[in-house]
Amino acid sequence: MPSAQRLKKTIWVILIVAVATIAGMTCAWRAPGLNRYAQDLMMRARGRLPVPDEIVIVAIDEPSIRQLGQFPWERDLTARVLDLVSAGKPKVITLDILYAESTETEDDEALADAIKRAGNVAISEQLIEEQTAVESGHSTWLRSLPEIKSAAAGVGHVNVGTEQDGAAHDMLLRLSDDEGDSRWALAVETIRVGDNLNPDEIRETNNIVYIGTRELPFSAQEHNLSLKLKDSISDLTVIEPRRMTIDYIGPTGSFAANTYSFADVLENRIAPGKFRNKYVLIGATAATLGDRIATPFVHSESSDGDQNGDLMPGVEILANSVNTILRGRFYQSVSDWIAGLLAAIVAIAVIFLTRLAEGRFEAAKQLVAFSGLGVFILLGCYFVFFYFLIIPPIVPMIVSFATAAPLALLNRSLVASAGIDERIGELLAVEKSLLSNVSYQAVTHSSENYLQSKNIQINHQRGKFFPRSLEWKTQTLRFLTGNLIARSLFVDRALRSLEEGLLIAEPNGLITFANRRAGEILDLPEKRIMGSNLFLRLRGAEKKPENALNFSEQTILQTLIDQTSIKREMVIGEDEESHYILRLSAVIPHGDDDNQILGIVATLSDITHYHELQQVRNEVIMLVTHELRTPLTAIQGMSELLTEHDVLPEARLRMLATINAESKRLGRMINEYLDLTRLESRIQKAHFNNVNPTDLLDQTLLLLEPLAAQREIKIVRCFETTQTIVSGDPGMLVQALTNIVANAIKYSPKKTKITVSTETEGESLKISVKDEGYGISKEQLPRIFEKFYRIPRRQTEDASGTGLGLALTQQIIELHDGKITVESEPDSGSTFTVYLPLAPER
Ligand code: ADP
Repeated sequence: MPSAQRLKKTIWVILIVAVATIAGMTCAWRAPGLNRYAQDLMMRARGRLPVPDEIVIVAIDEPSIRQLGQFPWERDLTARVLDLVSAGKPKVITLDILYAESTETEDDEALADAIKRAGNVAISEQLIEEQTAVESGHSTWLRSLPEIKSAAAGVGHVNVGTEQDGAAHDMLLRLSDDEGDSRWALAVETIRVGDNLNPDEIRETNNIVYIGTRELPFSAQEHNLSLKLKDSISDLTVIEPRRMTIDYIGPTGSFAANTYSFADVLENRIAPGKFRNKYVLIGATAATLGDRIATPFVHSESSDGDQNGDLMPGVEILANSVNTILRGRFYQSVSDWIAGLLAAIVAIAVIFLTRLAEGRFEAAKQLVAFSGLGVFILLGCYFVFFYFLIIPPIVPMIVSFATAAPLALLNRSLVASAGIDERIGELLAVEKSLLSNVSYQAVTHSSENYLQSKNIQINHQRGKFFPRSLEWKTQTLRFLTGNLIARSLFVDRALRSLEEGLLIAEPNGLITFANRRAGEILDLPEKRIMGSNLFLRLRGAEKKPENALNFSEQTILQTLIDQTSIKREMVIGEDEESHYILRLSAVIPHGDDDNQILGIVATLSDITHYHELQQVRNEVIMLVTHELRTPLTAIQGMSELLTEHDVLPEARLRMLATINAESKRLGRMINEYLDLTRLESRIQKAHFNNVNPTDLLDQTLLLLEPLAAQREIKIVRCFETTQTIVSGDPGMLVQALTNIVANAIKYSPKKTKITVSTETEGESLKISVKDEGYGISKEQLPRIFEKFYRIPRRQTEDASGTGLGLALTQQIIELHDGKITVESEPDSGSTFTVYLPLAPER
């Protein structure tokens, strides 16, 4: 990856993590209620805890009020209850009732005496805001009556800190008034008195509050509250207060099993043994007495909108607080920097998962990954809350997740979009170089013109921070696909129109393209060629096995890889053989010389004409080197002899006759060869006319009669009487027939007979020339129509000839769509038969 790209990636990661973390932390700071809400949810999800045995509530409840009348009652009643409870020897009796105003002196004293008698009673005081004319918000203690206070073993505050949602989550361990007069919480005092400890046995360090040997691990953490402590008369120390999260065992009424009605206790209906070694909390639970507060178990999200769960009376909150300390179930919240770190880790996880989900089924994978991460965060939070009593920073984590996820997706789509831009850039480059001058149907612009007209600048390099707009992509792609499709079509057309046979195959030989010419050459429709195997097709079409591609496909492929092309000649065709040059070449990957090929291209170029010329050239060479040289040597030799030596007159005459005959033969040979060549190369055109074959034969035989007469050979005519007409070139036909009859005369002994007959056979006229000559052996018979072929014979040594006559004859007959055959028996004679198609009747 280029370093610029890596840098960009890193910047994105840092950006996403930073933004997500800041968002998470800001949310947690600005909306603390959210975390409280999550905490409540987790506590409710956790459910109830076992009810502690050692806590007993003596409740000033509705039945007590019904029985004893309107509250407040005479303090003497409470004094009697204290005596009764105390008889059971509880650890501590805590009075969650304020005794701030004095009533009748006797009554107050009766209570004070009872408290003193019990010796282990903790009483409560409350910090209140006093509004005076001069100043507002002056906090001071609503103090207990001095006689009651002095009788008590401990005094604790009953202030419950409620949050914005009105619920009491925490208890402030210590509170002080503006003068620095402080009280520990009533729960703390209950424990202290219950443990039989002196007030100075509550100590505190920075992180821990000790009640005797009990450790309450709460560091001072409230920044917006201050606690003034009066150490001496003059000095005030200001410290930050500590909070203890109350671990509620369940909703209101959870202590019901250990709650006794005040009236029942008063009337001795409860055995004193029930209070032995218990923490006895006396307080109001009756709804009419007010003083009820919401707890995490009070929630309002039922479908009908009703609030679920009753508000909790103060004495139950006290019971829960005491239980929290007794069980040592202290919830710790994490510090801000750990919360921030976790939020950052969540953001990193989101980025990591987004990268992981890249590729196929990306959206589905993203969905699964993100849901998984969400569930993991929630379960993890619940896990640490439940097992480790840690209040997790659930809000920063969830907000970080919710912020990082769309940002990571945005980043992903920007990267993908930039990738598309790059691909488009590559396409544009290809489009510019690929047949850019072709204007074919849809190709209306060159890319340059188009880009100029759209005012588009192409930047092939990455590095721009933002990719191009979707509109740009759509437009450019539409233009590119249009052009490239048109050009592909053009290339397709061009390949199809090629006058060479073209076959394109996969490396395994499967033909994927065949043009029209290839179809013609292989004599199959293109559609049938496609899908078949290239090597099998070529081997099947080849007429000469020695030319065929007889080695294995593997060898062919390796040769193609090594040499990139194979060239060989092929002969194809059933009736008429045609010659082709087959070229096989490999399609190799661009700029890569690996041992790999993408496909095979086979071309078939027609070289039939060239091949014919080559043959003519060979024949001419043969003619000159063999056939012409013999008569020339004779002429040369004899003429030299005649000029340089005195030769006897008879010999001279003989020599001159030979020179004459040989030079005539030379001339004839050249003429016949030229005739033949002209015929073969179709230079000589036949002039077709309707001719009467009998006339032609008469004409031929008339010319040959003298030759036959010389050898005393009789020519018998045996023509059929019906008038038949053939279509042909009279001159050529006479030449052909002359050759046949002249041969019959030449290659027959003297005083023999030649029969020339005609006969109509179907659509043809059959002309036979039968002699009683030397005949032709079976082995030589197939060769007599070859050029320059002559049968060496003792009897015919003097018969001059060129070996071209029959070849020429055959050419002429075939030019007339006719046929020539021969039957022969050595020493008994030969029959040459010519078939000529009859002229169509008019
Ligand atoms: P040439 O000029 O030698 O006659 P041709 O092509 O006409 O050449 O004939 C080829 C050979 O076929 C001759 O050399 C001859 O030996 C043989 N041949 C042709 N016609 C006859 C025939 N009627 N009887 C026997 N042999 C024949």
